Amino acid sequence: MSDTRLVRVWRGDADDGQLVDFQVEVHEGEVMLDVLHRLQATQAPDLAVRWNCKAGKCGSCSAEINGRPRLLCMTRMSVFSEYDEVVVTPLRTFPVIRDLVTDVSFNYAKAREIPSFTPPADLAPGEYRMAQVDVERSQEFRKCIECFLCQDVCHVVRDHEEHKESFAGPRFLMRVAELEMHPLDVADRVDAAQDEHGLGRCNITKCCTDVCPEGIKITDNALIPMKERVADRRYDPLVWLGRTISRR
Ligand code: SF4
Repeated sequence: MSDTRLVRVWRGDADDGQLVDFQVEVHEGEVMLDVLHRLQATQAPDLAVRWNCKAGKCGSCSAEINGRPRLLCMTRMSVFSEYDEVVVTPLRTFPVIRDLVTDVSFNYAKAREIPSFTPPADLAPGEYRMAQVDVERSQEFRKCIECFLCQDVCHVVRDHEEHKESFAGPRFLMRVAELEMHPLDVADRVDAAQDEHGLGRCNITKCCTDVCPEGIKITDNALIPMKERVADRRYDPLVWLGRTISRR
């Protein structure tokens, strides 16, 4: 079964662009990426779209459909009714390179700002032991495919270019939390989370959790526990007193 649908695709570059209307065949069971590939094959051979695995695991084909950040390869056309307008645009938070392809290097720069896993100096390889509960906590965060949909939707940077310098975004605050809660990581990441990675800017609206294709509970399991650690250190009077005395 197939029908013809109106699909509006943003086309342009860093300087200028516009929505272009296409009438395109849609077959039963297809995803948005199939439809864009058909456009490339039949009407717009120079349409730029980044993709790789087409299985929801590489995190490459991130874009926005009707304003919502989505993976193009995991969005079935059947979620739209025949009356819906289908509008495909590039990720809004990152600079456009061409058409649906954006420059996501902001995210790689933020990744490099986080010191790597730091086990105790005297712990030899093979001596690492972890409780199952700690393994499971890390495994949830390790499901991340780095699609950066959470980074795209986060209003702290989506609407405020000026915050990009001081805010790592949910994906990388989650990485800080993962390492801070790791029983074998001895680096102190609490102050850096707040002062260097901008944790205080997050007001836990859960937009990041809402768009995560891996279903990671970014806010509940990473950002809030990290905020609690910052609050304990900075605002618990007993902790504050203990730290003040120990510094003398
Ligand atoms: Fe994508 Fe989820 Fe990872 Fe964010 S946390 S980059 S939304 S997989």
